Amino acid sequence: MSLSGYSALTVDVEDWYHVCGIDQPVVPDRCTWRVAHNIKGILTLLEQHQCKATFFMLGSVAEAMPELAPMIVEKGHEIASHGYSHTLLTDMTKQQFLDELLRTEQVLIDQTGIRPVGYRAPQWSVSDKTPWVDPLLVEHRYLYDSSRNPLPFVGDPSAPRYPYRIDTLSGSLWEVPPLVTKTSLVSLPTGGGWGFRLFPLGLIAATIKAYLRDEAPAVLYLHPREIDPEGPRLQLPVLKRFLAYGTRTDATVRLSELLQRFRFLTLQEMVTTWQPAS
Ligand SMILES: [Zn+2]
Repeated sequence: MSLSGYSALTVDVEDWYHVCGIDQPVVPDRCTWRVAHNIKGILTLLEQHQCKATFFMLGSVAEAMPELAPMIVEKGHEIASHGYSHTLLTDMTKQQFLDELLRTEQVLIDQTGIRPVGYRAPQWSVSDKTPWVDPLLVEHRYLYDSSRNPLPFVGDPSAPRYPYRIDTLSGSLWEVPPLVTKTSLVSLPTGGGWGFRLFPLGLIAATIKAYLRDEAPAVLYLHPREIDPEGPRLQLPVLKRFLAYGTRTDATVRLSELLQRFRFLTLQEMVTTWQPAS
């Protein structure tokens, strides 16, 4: 079947306190954790719209809540890896990255019997300081990465907006970037996070249509805390707080609208069908 015309919803399975790059990472009391509750909400929404999504699991979250990954798989969705501890890759050594990759993989295999084939770095932190990421992903049989955001500040504005192959000495894999809206000045983060809740829905829908016209998938990303506007927040400096949490708006309504209007598949379903350009 042709997969052009399909988009993808991706969910980074982490809690409200998983914010990268803060001096003192915190793990608040378990009674404040919201991730399981919010994931159930997302699963219900997906079921209502009969859509399948890709869930990038944080190994530490899967380990602490062993019911989560099986619940997602049971509903027919894909589980992929978001690493273990939510540490920026630029703060890790090659060995630490590999340890986290394998640890998360093992947790997911033990819990679901499924080996993840996709990876996403915390906060798009793959860069030229982490040249070991792609070869290690290939060596460990990952089929795709989704860690490069074609945006200024959080990513690389010159990076391709549409999926492409990355070649390494160990082999190659797909890179699947998130959706952005290109303007003459700067690209806008309309594919997820605070941008998804801030920019007009019409602009996001028009961007999705433009991707689909170019036969590229529009890849949206969502954090469970984004459907939980009343949930707790870390005390952070104003800008960092906005980047981590955005406004206290609920992504559910516009997500529902897009799930209704467009067709969605998992990233695994997509990349296993695409043929590398020869
Ligand atoms: Zn994350």
